[in-house]
Amino acid sequence: MRITCVGGGPAGLYFAVLAKLADPAHDVTVLERNPAGVTYGWGVVFWDDLLDDLFAYDPVSARRISDAACRWDEYEVRATGKSVSHLPGYGFSLGRHKLLSILGTRASELGVDIRYSSDLSVVPDADLVVACDGAGSAIRSQDASHFGASVDMGRNKYIWLGTKHVFDTFTFGFEKTHAGWIWYHAYPFDDGTSTFIVECTPAVWSALELDRLDGAAGCARLETIFARHLGGERLIDHRAEAGGTGWMSFRRVTNQRWDNGNVVLMGDAAHTTHFAIGSGTKLAMQDAMALADAVASGAPLPVALERYEHRRRADLVPLQRAALASSEWFERMPEYADLPSAQFSYALSNRRGEYPLWRYLLHLSTQRSVPRAMLRSALSARRWNRARRRPDAEMGVPLLTGG
Ligand SMILES: Cc1cc2nc3c(=O)[nH]c(=O)nc-3n(C[C@H](O)[C@H](O)[C@H](O)COP(=O)(O)OP(=O)(O)OC[C@H]3O[C@@H](n4cnc5c(N)ncnc54)[C@H](O)[C@@H]3O)c2cc1C
Repeated sequence: MRITCVGGGPAGLYFAVLAKLADPAHDVTVLERNPAGVTYGWGVVFWDDLLDDLFAYDPVSARRISDAACRWDEYEVRATGKSVSHLPGYGFSLGRHKLLSILGTRASELGVDIRYSSDLSVVPDADLVVACDGAGSAIRSQDASHFGASVDMGRNKYIWLGTKHVFDTFTFGFEKTHAGWIWYHAYPFDDGTSTFIVECTPAVWSALELDRLDGAAGCARLETIFARHLGGERLIDHRAEAGGTGWMSFRRVTNQRWDNGNVVLMGDAAHTTHFAIGSGTKLAMQDAMALADAVASGAPLPVALERYEHRRRADLVPLQRAALASSEWFERMPEYADLPSAQFSYALSNRRGEYPLWRYLLHLSTQRSVPRAMLRSALSARRWNRARRRPDAEMGVPLLTGG
């Protein structure tokens, strides 16, 4: 089968890998508009569930991703006028750049033809065209009315930055300025860099002149606001460095249909998930798994594409709901700002509104160091056990951070 993926993000590259693994005779091409090695995002987080899936589908790339990932083992919440509080949980983070490099290398090893600097806006000729060209998909736009694409804009403004300050663990930081609250979601993703996503309401954004300042001046203002969190390090805005603007509103993309003849949507082109729950990359790669399974089943293409869409829509529902609740919490964040420290961080952790009462009691008790250390040890053991059960056991990988 001749397969062309338009877009060499996580979805496109991973699907190319899986299609080749399923049948080396497939002729698989990935067309990516950026030059090799160029991407604007920073690190992304993921959890054990994705690693389990990656090891099940391709242990080779899974091992490389796991080895390159940074581990963190709790959340910290820092807010002006409140003591630091802690939330249980652990996860992984990896630079988007590194992830794409691992997937691109793996795809090339398997014989995928990756053509960088190929900006495509017309549907290419192939047996199967996978439109994985991101939230603003040009392929989808070719037939927008067929796909029934709709885009809801989130209210808050955000910017995806990086910094050489290495955070100890996943940190939410809230600063109260003369204009109102502004906050960040930050986490280390290698031993020298952290992701630093800044978010605020549009009113605060304008009042702090972030709507008018150019990239460098905007970063300088944010460095002043968040100085006590950054250990003297700068904030880096790749998009501004490339002449673009980094501030955005989140675009929630949905589509009524995901396929049109031999063209199928995948990843952010099909659906986006707010970064507040850090799952878009995971969902994009799980789309790739589901599409690869459907194509490998040998069913006629229309049936395979229908099965893929059906499976993924069902899987997406709970996460989409959680993402919406989460992004709405951040839109209402100033309403929670007067809560005492532990209640504020609990409201943040329970922003999806799902926790039973015992979680609150656990939260209060784990603000003290001994119960917190005990809980961290228990979660660490769980992480270790889960890793041990994977096809390629990863025992002995040291914790890079927060350990
Ligand atoms: C601030 C922020 C933080 C995030 N944090 C996380 C996180 O922590 N964890 C997580 O799981 N997810 C996170 N995400 C979401 C994640 O980045 C996306 O969901 C994920 O990248 C989707 O993968 P994709 O392959 O579908 O699309 P993309 O990653 O957008 O890739 C699409 C590719 O297509 C290329 N392309 C576009 N148009 C064309 C064209 N016309 N021709 C050829 N190529 C084209 C693009 O250059 C790009 O390489 C975050 C998103 C944002 C905005």
